[in-house]
Amino acid sequence: MTSDLEIGLYIFLLAGFLGYHIITRVPPLLHTPLMSATNAISGISLIGSLVVTGADYSPLSTILGTIAVACSSTNVVGGFLITDRMLKMFKRKDDQVDRVGQRLAAGPILWGAVTVAVVVLLIVAGTGRLDPGAAGRAHGGVSHQALSFLYIISALLFILGLKGLSSPRWARKGMFAAELGMLMAIVGTLFHHEIVSYRWIAVGIAAGSIVGATMGLRIPMTAVPQRTALSHSLGALAATLVGISEYIRQGSALSAVTMTAIGFEVIIGALTFTGSLMAAAKLQELLRGAPITYRGQNRSNMALLLAMGGLFVALIVVPSANTLFFVMVGLALLFGFLLVLPIGAADMPVVIALLNAYAGLADAAMGFVLANRIQIITGSLDGTSGFLLSLLMCRAMNRSARNVLFGAFGRVEAEAGRDESVAKGTVRTIVPDEVPGLLDGARSVIIVPGYGMAVAQAQHGVAELGKLLAKRGIDVKYAIHPVAGRMPGHMNVLLAEANVPYDQLFEMEQINPYFGEADLALVIGANDVTNPAARKDRSSPLYGMPILEVDRAKSVIVLKRSMRPGFAGVDNDLYYNENCMMLFGDARESLTRLFTALK
Ligand code: NAP
Repeated sequence: MTSDLEIGLYIFLLAGFLGYHIITRVPPLLHTPLMSATNAISGISLIGSLVVTGADYSPLSTILGTIAVACSSTNVVGGFLITDRMLKMFKRKDDQVDRVGQRLAAGPILWGAVTVAVVVLLIVAGTGRLDPGAAGRAHGGVSHQALSFLYIISALLFILGLKGLSSPRWARKGMFAAELGMLMAIVGTLFHHEIVSYRWIAVGIAAGSIVGATMGLRIPMTAVPQRTALSHSLGALAATLVGISEYIRQGSALSAVTMTAIGFEVIIGALTFTGSLMAAAKLQELLRGAPITYRGQNRSNMALLLAMGGLFVALIVVPSANTLFFVMVGLALLFGFLLVLPIGAADMPVVIALLNAYAGLADAAMGFVLANRIQIITGSLDGTSGFLLSLLMCRAMNRSARNVLFGAFGRVEAEAGRDESVAKGTVRTIVPDEVPGLLDGARSVIIVPGYGMAVAQAQHGVAELGKLLAKRGIDVKYAIHPVAGRMPGHMNVLLAEANVPYDQLFEMEQINPYFGEADLALVIGANDVTNPAARKDRSSPLYGMPILEVDRAKSVIVLKRSMRPGFAGVDNDLYYNENCMMLFGDARESLTRLFTALK
C-alpha cells in the first residue's frame, strides 16, 4: 500500500514540476510581485499553526503556536496587500483610460468566486456533523475528508493565482483567486476537530493582521526588498516553532521518518530565519552593506554545516535525544547568520530568493510533519519559485550561485577599483541648462534606471521627465536590466508606481538593438549594468555579464553623485567615453533641475 510519505513525495515533486512551468512564464516585469505573492501563499503554514495553537496539546505548544500564527498571518495579510498594491500600478497606456471597463469585467468573477466559496464552506460546516472524531469538542468539527477537498480547491486557486502572474492583465484577478483559496483554507481549518479553543488563535491572527496590514499598506515601494526578506524570516520562524512544538509533543513516539521531516523543518527554518533577518538589516542599511569577511570563514561555515548534519543523523537514530535537538536548532540559527555575513548588499536579491526557496522547503517539511498536503504543495511552489529566480539572477550576472554565496563579491574589487579610476582618461561633465541644446532635433531617448534611482526616490521625477520629452514628440523608452536595483523587477515596480505604462518598459534583450539609433541614453543611478568592461575587458569582475549597451547611443548622460563605483566596486569605462557626460548630484535634485531647464 502506498504510504503517506510516498504520496507526500509524489505531491511535492509534481507541484514543483507544475510550479516550474507556471513560474517560468512570469515575465521579469512581475518578478517582484511574484516574490511577494509566493510569500503570501506560503503563509498557508498558518493552517498548521492554527491547529497547534487551538488544540489541547500543552501550554508550550499553545505559546509557540500563537507566535507562529502571528508570523504566518503577518505574511498572508501583508503579502497579499503589498502584491495587490504593486499589481494595481502596472498599467498600459490604454488601461489608464479604461478603468470603468475593467471594473465591470472583474465584477462577475468576484461574485462568482465568493458564491463558490460560501457554498463550499457551508458544505464543509454541514459535513462536520458526520465526523465521529468531533464528539466532545468545542464545536461540531469538520470531517477530515471535507477539509481535504477544501484544501484541494484552495491549492487549485493558488495555482491559478500564480498562473495569473503570467501577464499584468490577469495578475490581479489571479491574486484574487489565491486570496479566496487562502480564506477558504483558513476558515475551513478553524472547524478542524482538534481545535478546542479559539482564544490564542484570535490573539495571533489579530496581532499578525495588524502588523501585516501596516507593512502591506504603508511600506514604501523602495523598501520592498527588505520587507520581502523580513517576511521570509517570519515564515521560517513559524515553521521552526511548529517543528519544535511537534518534536516536544510527539516525544518518544517519534518515528525516524517524522524525525527526518522535523529535522529538515527546524534546520532550514532556523537558518532561513536568521539569514533573512541579516539580509533585511543589510538592505535597510542597519548593517554595513559591504561583505564582512574573516580568515577561514568558508571553512568554519563548512565545519558548522557538518556538525549540524552529524547531529541530524544522530537524532534520526535516537529521536529522543532532546539536548542534541536544541543544540542543532542553535547551530542552524548561527549558520544562517554566518552564511549571509560575507555577502554584499547588492547580492541580497539572490540570497532573498534562495531563502525564499528554503522557507518553501521548510513549509513543505512542516506539511510532511503534520500530514498536511496543501502545505507540501505550497512549499514546493514557493521553493521552485525561489530557486528559479535565484538562477535567473545568477545568469543575468554571469556568476555562479557559489560565487554569490561564498565569493564575497564587491569587496576585493572595491579596492582594485579605487586605483584604476586614476588612469582612465578625461571625464566630461554637463549641467542641466546644457541639456535642452543637446536634445534639439532628438527623436529618440532611452532612459536607464538603476539602484541610484531607488536611493534618491527619483522614480516620479523620471516619469515626469519622460512625459515632458514625449510631449515634445520624442520617442521615450525605458531600458530595464534584469538585476538593476536590489530585487529582480525592482525598477519595474518603481516606475509603475510613478505611472509609467508598462508597454514603455523594455527588457534588456528587447532594448539593446535600439541603443544604436538612440539620440540620447539617460542613465539614472545605474552603474554596473551599463559598464562596457563587461563586454570588452576580460580582467574585469563584470566580464561576461550581459549589459545594457548604452555606450552605443549617440550621446549618454549619467546622473549620479560622484565617480564612485557601483556595487561590483569597479570603475565604469562608460564614463570616459567621448559620447558620455556626467551630471553630478542627487538624482532627484538633478531631475528637477533638468525638468526646469527643459520647460
Ligand atoms: P549599482 O551598480 O549598484 O550603482 C548604483 C549607482 O547609483 C551608484 O554608482 C551610485 O553612484 C548611484 N547612486 C546612489 N545613490 C544615488 C543618488 N541619491 N542619486 C544619484 N545616484 C545615486 O546599481 P545598478 O546599476 O542598478 O546595478 C545593480 C547591482 O546590483 C549590480 O552589480 C548587480 O549585479 C547587483 N545585483 C542586483 C540584483 C537584483 O536583483 N536587482 C541581484 C543581484 C545582484 P554615486 O554613489 O556616485 O551616486
